[in-house]
Amino acid sequence: MSFTPLKIILVSTPVGCLGSGRGGGVELTISSLIKGLLSLGHSITMLAPEGSVLPPGCEQVDLRQVSGVQQPSWQHREYSGPALIPLEGVLPRLWQQALELGASADAVVNFGYDWLPIWLTPRVKQRLFHLISMGGVSRIMKELIRDVARSHNSRFAFHTKRQASDFLLHHQPLIVGNGFDLSQYELNLNSRGPLGWVGRIAPEKGLEDAAAVATALQDRLLVWGLIEDSAYAKRVEASVPPGTIEWRGFHSTIDLQRELGNCRALINTPKWNEAYGNVIVEAMACGVPVVAYNRGGPGELINSGVTGWLVEPDDVEALKLSVMKVNEIDRLACRNWVEKYASLDVFAKHVEDWILHGLEVNYSENSSLIS
Ligand code: UDP
Repeated sequence: MSFTPLKIILVSTPVGCLGSGRGGGVELTISSLIKGLLSLGHSITMLAPEGSVLPPGCEQVDLRQVSGVQQPSWQHREYSGPALIPLEGVLPRLWQQALELGASADAVVNFGYDWLPIWLTPRVKQRLFHLISMGGVSRIMKELIRDVARSHNSRFAFHTKRQASDFLLHHQPLIVGNGFDLSQYELNLNSRGPLGWVGRIAPEKGLEDAAAVATALQDRLLVWGLIEDSAYAKRVEASVPPGTIEWRGFHSTIDLQRELGNCRALINTPKWNEAYGNVIVEAMACGVPVVAYNRGGPGELINSGVTGWLVEPDDVEALKLSVMKVNEIDRLACRNWVEKYASLDVFAKHVEDWILHGLEVNYSENSSLIS
């Protein structure tokens, strides 16, 4: 079979520039996918908010920076509230360029969880694809994704089944998982280190429960991540004895994995339907078992009893008891799971198959919205 490289436009999240941490897991997903698609021979143009930087390994990408005011994140807004676009917003500017470049590209792949690109999908000739990065955190997004996916199902992909189940889709959703550049993560077999927690410091991540476990075990909790909500961070810190939390800040992947690999366990405590949970897989890539609430993506990533423990959501006592038996987990099994299911190559192949399949479907015949 002959191979034809695709010309692909990737459009980043409008909530922050790449490298800032404000985009959460999407930032790492984008860099993994770039590396994976490049290694498959495709050509990539990346549109991202001004100030964005790409990590080493992405040098072949044509990175176009777009100025404008960044979008507020959906998960911190009223569930039934409207879609917002600030004055001088970066979102419409990103999409103006995406449509221009997309006219001569094979596909435009969107990573932004936002109304405009999804609404455009059945209304333009450019082939827009959406890798949805969150669950149904807003009613307007939930209904829009459900409705557009009804006529354009092959243009949507999700990270996990549990994430997709939020959208009450009419067709079977495509699940692509996620991918990690495993050359960046070193296996660490030391199982006697501290407890760790990684994530954006924001209420939906439930740091307070992990801190409560550390308190109950009279232990310390090392915390890595961007402080998105400083009032929340202060409340969590005040809820536990001084010194329980050790704030480690936001690190590059290389530095993060070096420190994280020393932990005896990662505690993961989502209070929302976590779409995937990059930090779980990153910990496992270093050999660190994960003890998590069985809510959203973590329930599909952790093989309870093999790569960590899953417990009833919000059950802090169960979380503590599972942390106490984390030494029963073989750290090598954690790394093996990631190599098998979440490598950069596996992920890029899933995404390539998705795009190729989506390009075969001719929506102009199916959709009454296209003239
Ligand atoms: N992260 C990082 N440095 C840090 C802490 C976190 O680069 O010091 C990244 C981490 O690699 C992961 C992201 O932050 O990719 C968090 O993603 P996750 O999917 O866990 O949650 P999200 O923020 O998307 O809800």
